[in-house]
Amino acid sequence: MTRRLSELLRVPPGAVDLRAIDPRGTPGLPKAAGKDPKTWARAQLPILGAELFAWQEKLFAQAKSGASRQRLLLLLQAMDCGGKDGTIKKVVGEFNPQGVHIVAFGKPTEEELAHDFLWRIERGLPGAGMIGVFNRSHYEDVLVVRVHNLVPPRTWRARYAKINRFERKLVADGCAVVKVMLHISPAEQKQRLLDRLDDPTKYWKYDSGDIDERALWPAYQEAYADALGRCDSDDAPWYVVPADRKWYRDWAVANLLLEKLRELSPAYPPADFDPDVERGRLVTQPEVNSG
Ligand code: AMP
Ligand code: MG
Repeated sequence: MTRRLSELLRVPPGAVDLRAIDPRGTPGLPKAAGKDPKTWARAQLPILGAELFAWQEKLFAQAKSGASRQRLLLLLQAMDCGGKDGTIKKVVGEFNPQGVHIVAFGKPTEEELAHDFLWRIERGLPGAGMIGVFNRSHYEDVLVVRVHNLVPPRTWRARYAKINRFERKLVADGCAVVKVMLHISPAEQKQRLLDRLDDPTKYWKYDSGDIDERALWPAYQEAYADALGRCDSDDAPWYVVPADRKWYRDWAVANLLLEKLRELSPAYPPADFDPDVERGRLVTQPEVNSG
C-alpha cells in the first residue's frame, strides 16, 4: 500500500460531498488481492486480527500496571443496515472480549433527556486499557435530531463546537478516537431490508420505521456531510468507509484500527517484582497439597 488507508479514507478537507464517494469502492486494496478480492480480504481478516489482539493485550497490560491511561475508542455511525453490527461482530470480534467495552446508543431515555447530550456519552467511555466501541454516538444528536427537528436549529448547530471540545479533551486525556462512517448506497440498503423480510431468522433485525427514515436519505446525507466536515480533526479524524461490500468494510476498519494501535505502540510493563526472587520463593516453598 503506497498511501496509508487512514489517508485514503480520511474525510476530504472543506465541504464534504458524500455523493462523490462510491459506496462500492475499495480504496487502498492492494494488487495482491487479485481477481477474487473478496476471498483475499476474508482471508486477511484473521491475520489482521492476530495483530489487533496482540496490540490490545499490551494496551490492557500497561493499564493494569497503572503505568498508562491509554485507551482506544472506535465510533461507528451509519444509515440503517449500514453494517455497524456486522463490523462489531467481524472486526471487534478479533479482540479479547475481556478488554472490549461496547455501548449502543438508541433513542434517549427520560433520564438521558434530562441531561446534556454528552452525559450518556461520557458514562459510556472506555476505561484505561480498554477498546471502546460506540454503536451510534453523540453524532446522533446532530443527525437524527437535526433531520427530525427534535431540538431547535440553534441548539444542534451549537453542538458541533461542543463535540469538538469534548473530543479534544478526550484525546488529551489519553483516549485515541477513530470515527468511522460506514457509507452505503440506498440500493444496498433496500437489498438488505428485503433480505431481512425474506428470512425469518432476520425478522428480529427488521424495523418498519427504517422505511420512513429511508425516505429522508438526502436530509440524512446532508446532516452527515456537515457533521463529518465540522467535526474532523487530526486528533479525532473522520473516516468514510465504503460499505456496500462487507468484505471491504471489515478489511478497511481492521486496518484503520491497526494503524492507530501501531501509532500508540502500547508496550508490556516491566515487572514490579524480581522474577529471580519470586522463582526462588516458589521452588523453595514446601510442597502444597490439595487438601
Ligand atoms: P438501532 O441502532 O437500530 O437499534 O436504532 C437506534 C435508534 O435510536 C435509531 O433510530 C437512532 O436514530 C435513534 N437514536 C440514537 N440516538 C438518538 C438521539 N440522540 N436522539 C434520538 N434518536 C436517537
Ligand atoms: Mg434500526
